[in-house]
Amino acid sequence: MRASGAFWTRVAGCRKGRNESFTENRAQVSVSLDGVDAATHEWLRGVQGCFQATLEGLQQLVQAGLKPQLVFTLIRRNVEQVTPIILLAERLGAGSIKFNLLQPTERGALLHCSEEALTVRELVELGSRVERQAATGSHIPILFHHPPAFRPLSRLFGESGGGCAVCGIKGILGVLHDGSYALCGIGQSTPDLVFGRADRVSLAAVWQGHPVLQAVRRDLPARLQGICRACLMQGICLGSCAAQNYYRHGNLWGPFWFCEQAYQEHLFPATRLRPEKR
Ligand code: SF4
Repeated sequence: MRASGAFWTRVAGCRKGRNESFTENRAQVSVSLDGVDAATHEWLRGVQGCFQATLEGLQQLVQAGLKPQLVFTLIRRNVEQVTPIILLAERLGAGSIKFNLLQPTERGALLHCSEEALTVRELVELGSRVERQAATGSHIPILFHHPPAFRPLSRLFGESGGGCAVCGIKGILGVLHDGSYALCGIGQSTPDLVFGRADRVSLAAVWQGHPVLQAVRRDLPARLQGICRACLMQGICLGSCAAQNYYRHGNLWGPFWFCEQAYQEHLFPATRLRPEKR
């Protein structure tokens, strides 16, 4: 297999000698690790034995010369492991670590109905703490993946910042396990965002002509609604995640759940709102 670009992958089972294609093509590899112990990681992933296998796969990637990014999805069960996972990432030789919000789709939607999901208030406070820690204390870049309205400008645009880290929805196309083109992985649960199978429709026809892709390129961010319409960050954020917004609202322009809820709870930074909305 030839590999280039960015990969979000499960590395359990990754074996020595299978990583050359990633290395040759300087691929960016992101690996989910949701705990510093087997019990925590395997509870969230639902696969017994995957913690140790993931550590071994990570070591193989590092030995092959890559700097994989660790991705840590925050839930109540692992929220006390933020500092330990940063230390583990450094020790493993990871290139960076990214803290993800648990999105309310599929299994995440079930967790959001349980005690395992952190509240938006807890996530806003944790994000602020991690941003401060990231600015001062680690050898590797730390990214807390909350929307840019919640990121200090120094972390968005400064030398020590991680950039905007926004979704590249205008320049990507997902391919599902059955060979179907889709907006992204959301196609697995949302048939409206699947654009046809690769053996029946050409890539060029989908890429250039599918009305959903054309609408995304043409109308984001101008058609965003709700808090996203009032937000000064919409030009770089694009509403955070069009797929998530479609899943929640049934259209691509609905507001992102986290910012919508933060605004309702008076947690949204007023300085990131258009003056007439403050
Ligand atoms: S309100 Fe919308 S556009 Fe603004 S930061 Fe949040 S998700 Fe992005």
